[in-house]
Amino acid sequence: MSEVFKGSFTQQEPIPEEGIEAAVAVMRSGRLHRYNTAPGEVAETVLLEQEFAAQVGAKYCLAVASGGYAMATALRAVGVKPGDRVLTNAFTLAPVPGAIAAVGAVPVFVGVTEQLVIDLDDLAAKADQADVLLLSHMRGHLADMDALMAICDAADITVIEDCAHTMGAAWKGVPSGTQGKVGCYSCQTYKHVNSGEGGLFVTDDAEVAARAVILSGSYMMYERHLAGPPKEAFDTIRYETPNISGRMDNLRAAILRPQLRKLDIQRERWNERYYEIEKGLRDTPGLTVIERPEEETIVGSSIQFLLKGWDAAAVEEVLARCLKRGVELKWFGGAEPVGFTSRYDSWRYVEAPRMPQSDAVLAGIIDIRVPLTFSLEDCALIARIIKAEVGAVYQAAHRP
Ligand SMILES: *Cc1c(COP(=O)(O)O)cnc(C)c1O
Repeated sequence: MSEVFKGSFTQQEPIPEEGIEAAVAVMRSGRLHRYNTAPGEVAETVLLEQEFAAQVGAKYCLAVASGGYAMATALRAVGVKPGDRVLTNAFTLAPVPGAIAAVGAVPVFVGVTEQLVIDLDDLAAKADQADVLLLSHMRGHLADMDALMAICDAADITVIEDCAHTMGAAWKGVPSGTQGKVGCYSCQTYKHVNSGEGGLFVTDDAEVAARAVILSGSYMMYERHLAGPPKEAFDTIRYETPNISGRMDNLRAAILRPQLRKLDIQRERWNERYYEIEKGLRDTPGLTVIERPEEETIVGSSIQFLLKGWDAAAVEEVLARCLKRGVELKWFGGAEPVGFTSRYDSWRYVEAPRMPQSDAVLAGIIDIRVPLTFSLEDCALIARIIKAEVGAVYQAAHRP
């Protein structure tokens, strides 16, 4: 009998007890709105902002309703207007081009390499087409950030970082989200901290921070943003900036604060699981492991590998055989978007020319979620199953 995996790829850990207690205290107080505080009280939302700013080493932080909202707010705050073009990754998730569409702007897709990062040659070639890059660190893969920033600085491109998959990650020790003008994070259930929904926005730019605070719906209570810019930053901005409400509430902030304190521990736990799977997948004929650069501090909350040059029927057979044994693989090469696996040609509200090199990479990307509810034995088993099934399909196709 062949082994079967019985776990769930979408089961999260519970919220830490400390977070549950803090959430109950907020509910008992009834003061869920961030500006509803008792005399002398500092709202959970404000504390979260101060703590996260300190954690990543950013000057300012704003807590918002979602990662997608953080990105759209960042685009507005740096001055993107309807009709503007915004560079972004061809390999990312739907909320990224969605944030660009939300402000009436037009995505210009930049290709993906076999390292699963933005193609810097393609970025350089398209650098004259837009003033802003919404850079998605998709699936936690960081491009060479020094080279990327050099290209963008030379072309006067403002970089906004989508760190939905890199909260807790770093490039050469620099926390992800602090190299561009704005860093945007998601606190949605499937990311690195879990408040159901939620987002965080960081920047060192006082003007951009002030616009973001007003945009998020601060009702002129911006002075109560202790992780916000000084009062003077709002002098004219407060008259010029619309309120597009998307605040975070104290309940979510209360749940998130203890999770952020545990982020370094969680990163180590994720990475143990990631490298256990990676180890098990190595030396599988036909399967390419993605080698991670040593400059990168990863958070291995998902793992990818490539089935390079495989035809669609063979990939589908691998997916079906693994699924039969309880291993749910996601494929970015399918003809139809399934779950989260859409790609640039799935977003038909954008006119995007075909990108043959990226298509070839996308056609081979297989993705596995790595929830912390997996044990290391689970990870080893998952890798054994994938290795066996990929090997079987590959050998059948290559039998002399
Ligand atoms: C989840 C995600 C986001 C935004 O998340 P929200 O669901 O809006 O909080 C942004 N980019 C990527 C790559 C994501 O996976």
